[in-house]
Formats: sequence, C-alpha cells, structure tokens
Amino acid sequence: MVNPNRRFFVGGNFKMNGTVDMITALIEQLNNANLDGKTEVVVAPPSIYLLQVKNALRPPAQVAAQNCYTADSGAYTGEISPAQLIDARVEWVILGHSERRSMFGDTDKFVADKTRAAISAGLKVILCVGETKEEREKGITMEINERQLEAVTKTIDEKDWEHVVLAYEPVWAIGTGLVATPQQAQEVHAELRQWLGKKVSQKVADSIRIIYGGSVNGKNCRELAGQPDIDGFLVGGASLKPEFVDICKSAD
Ligand code: PEP
Repeated sequence: MVNPNRRFFVGGNFKMNGTVDMITALIEQLNNANLDGKTEVVVAPPSIYLLQVKNALRPPAQVAAQNCYTADSGAYTGEISPAQLIDARVEWVILGHSERRSMFGDTDKFVADKTRAAISAGLKVILCVGETKEEREKGITMEINERQLEAVTKTIDEKDWEHVVLAYEPVWAIGTGLVATPQQAQEVHAELRQWLGKKVSQKVADSIRIIYGGSVNGKNCRELAGQPDIDGFLVGGASLKPEFVDICKSAD
C-alpha cells in the first residue's frame, strides 16, 4: 500500500545510453503519458542531453543529472558543478550509484561530500546505497548499507534530509534481471528507515522516500509498489522502454 504521507517517486536513469533522436522519442513518450503529478517522475539522461531534455520535457516530469562534483567551478576537467546544474534549471542529481562507486572510485566520503555540495547549491539528491551479492551472502547487507549511509548522516544536517530520496539498489539486482523479491526489498527498506530514525530523527525516518532499484520492469513494479516501505523506484534498463510509463503509474 502506498503511504499517503510520502509522494511516490519514480526515477529513470538512462545511464550512458541514447542519442539525440532516441532521447527525443523517450521524452515525447513521457510527455504523452498524461502524468498527473501524483507520482514524482524524474529522468536522468547523460549530461550532454540534460539541456535538450530540460527544454523538451513537460512538467510535472523533472530532470536529474547522473553525477556532479563538489566545487562550484574551476579546473576540474570533465566534471559538472551543482551550481551549473542549478543554472541549467536541473532540479535533481543522482549520487552514489553503484557504477560510480565500483568503476569510478566514488568513496563513501566523496559521495557524502557531493551530497552536501549538491544540497547547499539547491539541488535535490537521489542517494544510492546497496550491497553486492558477496556481501549479501556473507550476511552483512545492513552493515554495508549503513556504512554507506553513515558517511552522509555525518556530513549533512537533519534539515537537509528533506532534499534527499534514498535509493536502495542491491548491486546484484542492477542490470541483471534478478529483481529483489518484494519481501527482500521491504525488509531492507524498513531497516534503513529504522536506522535513520535512530541516527537522524524519527521525523526524517517517517518522511523520507526510500525507493528500490534493480531490474524493476513493467511486470514486477506493482507488487513491489505494494510494500509499505517502498516509496518508488529508480529504473535503469526499463527507463529506455515504453514500459517506463507503466512503472511511473504503478502506484495508481
Ligand atoms: C540502476 O542502474 O539504477 C538500475 C536500477 O538499473 P536496472 O533497472 O537496469 O537494474
């Protein structure tokens, strides 16, 4: 059952996929989907297409970058600053995605510092955490998720959490077709919420949207959306397909 106090949230992470034409078609599909705004929908194209998407996408859908740096400007070749995203009227940024952590050296501290910089600049953050298959098999799922999250709890203030959507993305489920069962996802979401209640505040625990990511598609989204602590999804592969619209409407 969707919690009426937490607006359902669906993010589409296009990753490093798309062309001008393909992204035009994806945005047209979303513009024609009659999104009613009950679910907050945010799409994250590769940075080169951010302005194209920003200009073409009709509200209530919004735009996210897939990453940003900590500084406002300067000699940081290849990076985008939170201030530049704000200047381009981009509302959101994804931080801490497992692909950034595992392939591009984003440490827990770096993700926390980027989160602080993004929120200070006025962005909203989709903050990703998640354990690998080996970590789950070792029984340290929560230890890993809490370690990743703790770096952020130590870096931002209680009031900053209203600008954060937390994405639980088990690494073993990302892009593998191996979706977590609704029970597996619910269990971790509930524990993350409880942990935030202890470490930050009950207010933040009750209000934060905790979304699930990992092989969500048009078929499995509704059962997952029915879990009490699943407040939406971060969608990779399926965000490039027509079924993304069904996922955006899975809380209806
Ligand atoms: C992701 O990369 O955030 C993701 C959830 O990917 P996929 O839906 O393809 O598993």
